[in-house]
Amino acid sequence: MAPKTTKIKLSELAKDLGLKNPELIGILKPYSEKAPTAQKALESKDLDIIFDTLTLQHRIDDVSVYTALVGPEREAPAEVKPATEPAAAPAAEAKPGQPKEEAQKPAEAAPAKPEAKPAAPAPAVEQPKKKKKNEGPIQARTKGEVRKVDTRQTEVDLDKYNERYTDMAGQNERRTDRESFGRQKINQRSKQYRKGGVSKKRETERDRMKRIEEERAKRHITVEIGETIIVSDLAEKLHVKPVEVVRKLVGYGIMASQTEAIDFDTAEIVATELGAKVIKETVVTIEDRIIDTTEDAEENLQPRSPVVVVMGHVDHGKTSLLDAIRHTSVTSTESGGITQHIGAYKVNLDGSDITFLDTPGHAAFTSMRARGAMATDIAVLVVAADDGIMPQTIEAIHHAKAANVSIIVAINKMDKPEANPQRVMQQLTEHELVPEEWGGDVICVPVSAKTGEGLDKLLESILLVAEMRELRANPDRAARGVVIEARLDKGKGPVATLLVQNGTLNTGDTVVAGLAVGKVRVMSDYRGRRVKTAGPSTPVEITGLAETPEAGDVFDAVTDEKLARELVEQRKEAKKQEEFKKYHKVTLENLFSTIEDGEVKELNLIVRADVQGSVEAVIQSLEKLSTDEVKVRVISSGVGAINESDIMLANVSNAIVIGFRVRPDSVAEQRAERDNVEMHMYMVIYDCIEDIENAIKGLSAPKIRDVDIGKAEVRDTFRITGVGLIAGCYITGGKVVRNAKIRVVRDGIVVAEDEMSSLRRFKDDVKEVAQGYECGIGLNKFNDIKVGDVFEAYLTEEYRE
Ligand code: GDP
Repeated sequence: MAPKTTKIKLSELAKDLGLKNPELIGILKPYSEKAPTAQKALESKDLDIIFDTLTLQHRIDDVSVYTALVGPEREAPAEVKPATEPAAAPAAEAKPGQPKEEAQKPAEAAPAKPEAKPAAPAPAVEQPKKKKKNEGPIQARTKGEVRKVDTRQTEVDLDKYNERYTDMAGQNERRTDRESFGRQKINQRSKQYRKGGVSKKRETERDRMKRIEEERAKRHITVEIGETIIVSDLAEKLHVKPVEVVRKLVGYGIMASQTEAIDFDTAEIVATELGAKVIKETVVTIEDRIIDTTEDAEENLQPRSPVVVVMGHVDHGKTSLLDAIRHTSVTSTESGGITQHIGAYKVNLDGSDITFLDTPGHAAFTSMRARGAMATDIAVLVVAADDGIMPQTIEAIHHAKAANVSIIVAINKMDKPEANPQRVMQQLTEHELVPEEWGGDVICVPVSAKTGEGLDKLLESILLVAEMRELRANPDRAARGVVIEARLDKGKGPVATLLVQNGTLNTGDTVVAGLAVGKVRVMSDYRGRRVKTAGPSTPVEITGLAETPEAGDVFDAVTDEKLARELVEQRKEAKKQEEFKKYHKVTLENLFSTIEDGEVKELNLIVRADVQGSVEAVIQSLEKLSTDEVKVRVISSGVGAINESDIMLANVSNAIVIGFRVRPDSVAEQRAERDNVEMHMYMVIYDCIEDIENAIKGLSAPKIRDVDIGKAEVRDTFRITGVGLIAGCYITGGKVVRNAKIRVVRDGIVVAEDEMSSLRRFKDDVKEVAQGYECGIGLNKFNDIKVGDVFEAYLTEEYRE
């Protein structure tokens, strides 16, 4: 690999030069786009700037030191004076013997750009023994000024830097005389930066530098790094072990673990030291180009209808209420009792629309519901009047509050004789929902989904709240909204229910929804009627997407189809990276937590289901099975058949693949067999839960318990030489077996726990002694046995809960 010391940190150089970091930073600042930090890895360019500037700062009074080294190409640094110093003339003029051309070229290059100035002549000062004899100060200078390079103030180990240059040149660079080689380089480098290179030698030198650069570039890996990067990711990019990066960081005094992020500058130093070329990552967002995210002007906003979600505890009547409102009957096609789909519909009351999201009501849908709530303005909290507030009611309240949606309470089942709305209202106040009747701001409407009582009032209340919210949107722009539901239809392909939140969606529009892209082919409303446009707050089902998006994904109608595809590719790539990272991270964390907490095991799962709703349901249910000992983790999930990449992921992550109402495709099946990946298919969610539960039991570390087997009374003690103290015992209950352990109990207190060293009857070793018999028991360690002690014999056994 590349040499290790091609670059040094600014702080390191500062230390070597006996300067403060800010001084060097100050030198580099005017030549850098962004102010360098103490951690900056210095480029050769930077070194030049620093050396040159320092050289200028410490004027020379005796160039002989310098010229001696430079040899025939004598050039005093006077030529590189800053523009602000008109005093000095090219020193070369002072040396009559110097070729004219040499003398003048540098003068031309004299403008204030330090890059064009010679490198420090310091080695001569530092190694005075090696320099040639002083040849006296330069005699004639324009305006008679004597310049001075006082590098003695700073102990510069220039050889060190020369070594870096040598390293840059690679191992093939023959180093004959290290000292002179170093000097030569300084010398030559100084020449290089004088633009007048005409001599053959100078050309060669420039070529050499170029070659060094090229060689470096060739040898180096180029890595792109963004504003920050995770240590382990950096290691991956650099093809080194994370611990190597960590070690480097520790070397800089940065205590970062493999999972922590470091900033670009730090990462750059590490990468450079490890021989990589670093490029700052530029983030190109196609989003910005094809998605219109401008704020709507006030005058373009028009009222829109409210989007309502119905939430509440299971069996409190959500489905019945939604059904009653729409006057249709939804028969839920359920597996294991969990509703699988989310739909949406609109109702009209006196000319005003209300959009209802038909969310399923099982706890397994918590996350879905949370997302559903995000897409909504108002949550109708259904509480059964006969049952009152239940755990899922509270959960729903939290979700609604978190999503900042208005809550209207529907006290349902009012037709029931045991209905007690007062109690419900009382309970509501305990969760900071104070009913209007009681001076609060929460509208509570007593309803019956069964009889239809109060439904009008409920809808009116919804419109009232909506009015207060002043819900508005701009219909005259590209549509944006959320995916309510998505599934793969055998005939139609991916079908998605979209809720337009702003703008208007048209058939033929190119849509990007999460990782899916496509043109809206057929668009239909909640009644299944074909529509050509859909304005704000309108739910529509569309076909035409190339893939199935995920519920909760944001969708956008975009202008450029080609870029849209590119965008989706980008997102997919990002997601892949994310998942990969997540997986890797957790493995590391895993390792960490295993060390930290003792035995933590993980059961990795990959979940595939027919519709997104099921995916969510399965994930929720399964992850809930996590115990203190075994964490259930769904590392990947999706809609559709189990495919090859699922198996590949399962293989590397030691995961089990769960298919819910889906099958593996043939390639996946073959691969699973080849890689020995476990797959389980289910039709009913509870079967799946049961299986996993059992698997977890299998994974649980066995627990250990004591099982008492017998008791013995110590009636005598005697000492046998070579054996130790022996207790003459009488078995009062159960039995004592040779491999049992003994609890020594004295006056009801356990004074010792020990193993047996011997169990004998008369002179024979025996395996066990039963109740009513006498025996001699020797203990391993406990030596203070007294007559009257009780020996409790017990065995330890493993068991699983
Ligand atoms: P969900 O789980 O919240 O969706 O509840 P469902 O809508 O499935 O209702 C659960 C049970 O309560 C069903 O047996 C319904 O028939 C019954 N139910 C729902 N609303 C009412 C109501 O207003 N009155 C009565 N008596 N029963 C109702």
